[in-house]
Amino acid sequence: MSDLVRHGGAPFRWAGVPVLAYKEEGTHFRDVTRQVLFEPSGTGAGALDVQLRYFEVAPGGHTTLERHAHEHLVVVLRGPARCLVGERLHDLEVNDVVHVPADTWHQFRTGDEGPLGFLCLVRAERDRPRRPTPEELRALREEPALAAFIRV
Ligand code: MN
Repeated sequence: MSDLVRHGGAPFRWAGVPVLAYKEEGTHFRDVTRQVLFEPSGTGAGALDVQLRYFEVAPGGHTTLERHAHEHLVVVLRGPARCLVGERLHDLEVNDVVHVPADTWHQFRTGDEGPLGFLCLVRAERDRPRRPTPEELRALREEPALAAFIRV
């Protein structure tokens, strides 16, 4: 990966960066694409051990309801949208910054307004996301606002 990744071709696209599927397969997400803008290349003590991705969720779409040990740092570039972090729902606008702590349920959803686009920073080495068990899902759905929001 080059030291400079130029945007281009279309809004929220970058030269030489393929638009990938969000995840390999599944019905637990809808209308999400992924572009990888940075991957670690250095090996020294100061190497940046992170991956920077840009995700885009089309109107009516959503990311997976999941949690994992690694954290996320999210910067919203296109909105508005909504997200769940832990047991709280947030309205998101462009330029908002969201921290998803370790082992915390999270999901991003769009309404009909337009796509949600966000940069997401993660550790390069990280654990796999885990989806809720039926029991965990029941517990989340005890809160009516969460029950109305979540998509699985
Ligand atoms: Mn996640």
